Amino acid sequence: MEATKTQIFRIDHANFGKTIRMAARIIREGGTVAFPTETVYGLGADALNPDAVLKILRAKGRPADNPLIVHVSSREQICKITEDIPECAFGLMDAFMPGPLTLILKRKAIVPGVTTGGLDTIAVRMPDHRVALGLIRESDTPIAAPSANLSGRPSPTTAAHVMADLAGRIDAVIDGGQVRIGVESTVLDLTSDIPTVLRPGGVGIEEIRGCVGRVLAGYHEPIPDVGGVVRSPGMRYTHYAPETAVVLIEGDPESVAARISRLIAEYHKKGRRVGLLVTEETAEQVSGDEDLVLCRRDDLEAYARNLFGGLRYLDGRDVDVIVADGSIKSEGVGAAVLNRLRRAAGDR
Ligand code: AMP
Ligand code: MG
Repeated sequence: MEATKTQIFRIDHANFGKTIRMAARIIREGGTVAFPTETVYGLGADALNPDAVLKILRAKGRPADNPLIVHVSSREQICKITEDIPECAFGLMDAFMPGPLTLILKRKAIVPGVTTGGLDTIAVRMPDHRVALGLIRESDTPIAAPSANLSGRPSPTTAAHVMADLAGRIDAVIDGGQVRIGVESTVLDLTSDIPTVLRPGGVGIEEIRGCVGRVLAGYHEPIPDVGGVVRSPGMRYTHYAPETAVVLIEGDPESVAARISRLIAEYHKKGRRVGLLVTEETAEQVSGDEDLVLCRRDDLEAYARNLFGGLRYLDGRDVDVIVADGSIKSEGVGAAVLNRLRRAAGDR
């Protein structure tokens, strides 16, 4: 694609309104703007303008059949682009909007097919972030925004990550610092008989159950082995993945540490350098050639916040393989963390 000059808008209190107005103008004119949300940085364009949405797909190298999440700043906006909203959706909106929950609803005809990957449903979310909400309001249109990374790569949690992937491919990025949550939204399908989580994310499935009762987990994942299992990097279905191969070790803390230390010895025998993405507790027991310590084991929020940046950091170091610590609980945002790590390691 033709190179564009990517403008960087650094936002602070003094220039907030002016920056939002400049960025919104780009959106209204059919351009692309990356912006911070509470989950990860999104790459936004006018969701109702098919040419603008195509620019997102081209910049990311994203397959056209992968539908985008449409970001809104009000419930009225949701009603403008969706129909037949089920009763339970309103309770979910009360509880989680704005926030890291995306709802799949039936779409109205004003939404172009390119935005929804040709589906008659649409994913909508209201981000809990002043910059994102300000941009949507000022643009006066819903904004389609997938994560602002090259397709298949780890999602960006800083503006620098966005620039590393998309400089020269998008019109602008608003730098609002590091994001708060660090993994994407939970995607909940409300068009099936029983609400179904299609992607775990910032809102735990337990919290959604607390609100609507029965909820199915509808995402495919390999089932972890009790004793801890090595997931070799796969060729297919990788996502959120750095260029360096990722191996995820799951299981209870003791067996994970033991497995990692055996793996390091095996890699070293073959002359390979190992990067570790680990919790503090595991780091007390093992060390690789480059160690990135994320958080205490029970601090799932910090694991989520530091995950993608950690993968990108180790990808930039001189290592042949990244070994990730999967000794955390699969609850709350921990389910999303394990899902991203399994995908990065390659679903097999
Ligand atoms: P991203 O915006 O890159 O974080 O990804 C958006 C996620 O939402 C992807 O997993 C999409 O497949 C999913 N998604 C978006 N729209 C729909 C829809 N209409 N039906 C089902 N899944 C959707
Ligand atoms: Mg993405």
